[in-house]
Order: sequence, then C-alpha cells, then structure tokens
Amino acid sequence: MLPSTGAGVVVVGASVAGLHAAEALRDADYAGPVTVLDADQEPSCDRPPLSKQLLAGVWTREQTQLRDADALAGRGIDVRHGVRAVGLDIQSSTLDTSAGPLRYDGLVVATGATARDLPGAGTRPGLYTLRTQADCLALRRDLEDGAALVVVGAGFIGMEVAATARSLGAEVTVVDPLEAPMQGVLGRDAGRALQRLHAEHGVGFRLGRGVRVVHGASRVGAVELDDESVVRADAVLVGIGARPAAGWLAGAGLDVSAGLACDRYLAAAPHVVGAGDVVDWFNPRYGRRMRVEHWTNAAQQGAIAARNLLVARVDRNPADLVPYFWSDQYDVRIQFSGVAGSDVRVLPLGSATRPERRVVLSGQDGVLTSVLAVGVDQAFVRARRMLRRRTPMDEAEATVRTLLDGIEPRTAESTDPVPAHPSAPRRAGSSTGP
Ligand SMILES: Cc1cc2nc3c(=O)[nH]c(=O)nc-3n(C[C@H](O)[C@H](O)[C@H](O)COP(=O)(O)OP(=O)(O)OC[C@H]3O[C@@H](n4cnc5c(N)ncnc54)[C@H](O)[C@@H]3O)c2cc1C
Repeated sequence: MLPSTGAGVVVVGASVAGLHAAEALRDADYAGPVTVLDADQEPSCDRPPLSKQLLAGVWTREQTQLRDADALAGRGIDVRHGVRAVGLDIQSSTLDTSAGPLRYDGLVVATGATARDLPGAGTRPGLYTLRTQADCLALRRDLEDGAALVVVGAGFIGMEVAATARSLGAEVTVVDPLEAPMQGVLGRDAGRALQRLHAEHGVGFRLGRGVRVVHGASRVGAVELDDESVVRADAVLVGIGARPAAGWLAGAGLDVSAGLACDRYLAAAPHVVGAGDVVDWFNPRYGRRMRVEHWTNAAQQGAIAARNLLVARVDRNPADLVPYFWSDQYDVRIQFSGVAGSDVRVLPLGSATRPERRVVLSGQDGVLTSVLAVGVDQAFVRARRMLRRRTPMDEAEATVRTLLDGIEPRTAESTDPVPAHPSAPRRAGSSTGP
C-alpha cells in the first residue's frame, strides 16, 4: 500500500512501460497525482516503427507517437518532457532530477535501454544507432540520398533495417561474426533461410566477420573487416544490442548490475517498482531472473508494476510473463514466444518458393517451452496458447502439424489475433496494450 503524503506516484520514463504504468494507476482508480518524467525533449515515440514504417517513409512522425498528449492530460497524467532523473534517495522518498528534487509516495522506474555503440568507432556523421525518431529520420535522409549502408549486427533490428533500406533502393551489406542472421533466436537453419530471403532482395552478407575499423574522418566512408577486406559505406547502422538505462540509480543502494534488480512482483525497494527493458526480474514461471527487451513485456510489466504499488503485499500479482516478440521483414512476420528448451522440433511448411516459412517448437522435460513462427501467423496463435497451458511436446507437435497441413500463405500485412501491437495502424491516442 502507498503512503499518502500527497506527493503521488512518479513514473520515470514516458515510453511503453512508463505510460502503461501511468494508465494502469488511473484504471485502478488511483486518485493522487501521477507525474511522468522523460529525459527526451520530444513526445514519446513508439520504437518498433523506427526500423519499419517510419524508416520506410510510409508513416509520419505523428503516427509513431505513443499516446495523445491531451488524452493523457485528460486522465490527470502530468507528462514532463526534458526532465532527467539523476539520482534517488529511498530513505526520504526523493527523486533527484535535472529540474530539482521531487518527492514521491510511489515510484515506477521505466527508463528502458540505450543502444550499444560499436567499440572504438567513436561518433561521426553517418554512424548510427537506432533508438529515437531523430536517429531514424537522419538515417532515412542518407538512404534517400542513395547511401550505401553497412549494417553491423544481424539481430532483429539490423535485419529489419536491412529490409527497409532495400525497399528504399539502398545498397546494403550486413556484417556479423555469427554464421546466420538472428541465429540466437532462430537457430542456424532458420537463420540461413532468412538470409536467403534477404539475399533474394539484394542484401549482401559478410557473415563470420567482425568490424576492425570504421574509416572516414568527417563522415563514415568504409568499414574494414577482420579479414582486412573493406566494404564501402556512406552510412553504418550499428545494431549490436542495448544496455539497461539504470546507471542513474547507481548511488541509490539498489542492485543495477544487470538492470534494475526486481523481485517477482517487480518491486526494487519499498514503494519502488520497475518495468520494461530496464528491469532484471525474477520470473517465477521459469524460476530465474531475466531481462527482456521487447514491447509486449514492457507494456505488461508497466501495468503489473503499477497495480502492485497500490495494493497490500498479499494482493500483489507476480510478473510470471511469457516473453514474446515479433519482427517484420519484407512480407514475412517472425514471432517468438517462451524460453527455448533443448528438445527442438522444426516443422517446415514445405514451400519450395518460401523455404523460410516454418514453425519451430522447443520443449524441456516433455513440455512445450517456446514457439517460433516464420511467416505462419495462424499456427503461431494456436501454439502460443498451448505454450501458456504447458502442453506436452508431442501433443503440441501433432496439433501444429495438422494446422500446417491446411494452411494458406499469410503475410505480415494480415490481421492477426495476437495482442494488438504498434506495427498495426491505429488511431492516435488509442490503446495498443495487450
Ligand atoms: C528500432 C527498434 C525496433 C523495435 N522493434 C520491436 C519489435 O518489432 N517488436 C518488439 O517486441 N519490440 C521491438 N522493439 C523493442 C521495444 O521497442 C522496447 O522493448 C520498448 O520500447 C521498451 O519500452 P520501455 O518503456 O521499457 O523503454 P524505452 O522505450 O527504452 O523508453 C525508456 C524511456 O525512458 C527515458 N529515460 C531514460 N533514462 C531516463 C532518465 N534518467 N530520466 C528520465 N527519463 C529517462 C528515455 O528517454 C525513454 O523515453 C524495438 C526497439 C527498437 C529500438
């Protein structure tokens, strides 16, 4: 339960997790002040379109806005942009900010993650990470001017940017030390099938290679790889992961070694909860700590964390969440849910023209623990339900095989009953939460 000094709840971070938290407070009839701070001067943008629709130029900046400012104000949610949290004193329930100290009755930490820079590459024009609208729009300008793009890192953001850049006609080369794109999630075979899809669209690959140096003084000009080969680059997109934005909490006596450490209820300290990409929490469903950098997790955690702030200890809900993410590349939607187990069963669709299309199930101790679907949304929806019900592996495989036998080709544009997400066009201010 919250103390009620009148200070209200302060949310740090006005993105997916923070705004879902603020709205959940109002949904739970919390009547005190709700103040949301964000270091960014700009209104919060949704990040998934930054590598897809906004980069492609098919959505406007306004369409990527997470929430309508008037709608938030109408619910008594006071959003203050350009205010950075710089420290926290738990004893006195005081947040230190760039605009001065701020007292709170309850605090939600939702400061997300920041993109990792390429070690040793420094900063200069043409060298990008992708986390903000400004990053996206600057990269788009280069691509529209005909830049040759090198993508460093064949993870999901890198591969989405590669696909979008090809749609803009750019020359694209992907560099990664691993053997196949998105290998960590897809495994080597499905990763190679995805590589073929990209190659068919004209993407070049330098896999099994790392970057030695980025050349160019006033702006990037080329990338030298660890085999001394040189790839021309007018622009370089670095997509090598993100780190939790928890450094500002270092002096607060909290564990921030792997993100803000939270318990199963997303509590980090008395009256302090965390949500989203910044959080390293104990997920009771899997009996271990994890940090997830995906949209749906951030939305769900925001809502759970906020409710748990308001209720008595015995009434709190654990964040026993099943991780989920999607990625759109060309007309293919990739979806993954769960945590990979050691019993892996690959169920290809058997399409000669679209060999990447498949479902991959994995399990542990005879029970389904993860589902990966490449280009087959319908089967994914069913398999995801089975995942939540902890279905035996053999039963799950038989069900998915039957589904795949009768399936029609579907694309990323198809409507899909998976929880609504920001890639789906929507009205400004409408809720996109699951
Ligand atoms: C290019 C891109 C594409 C993506 N595509 C997908 C996708 O297709 N599917 C998917 O599932 N996920 C995707 N994601 C991941 C998803 O967007 C994130 O998981 C989600 O944004 C996390 O939300 P969050 O609220 O935890 O943090 P963030 O979105 O990182 O927001 C944190 C906010 O906190 C603010 N902040 C940070 N530090 C401070 C401070 N000290 N004081 C005040 N404010 C601060 C920041 O300015 C920021 O606005 C993508 C991410 C990117 C970057």
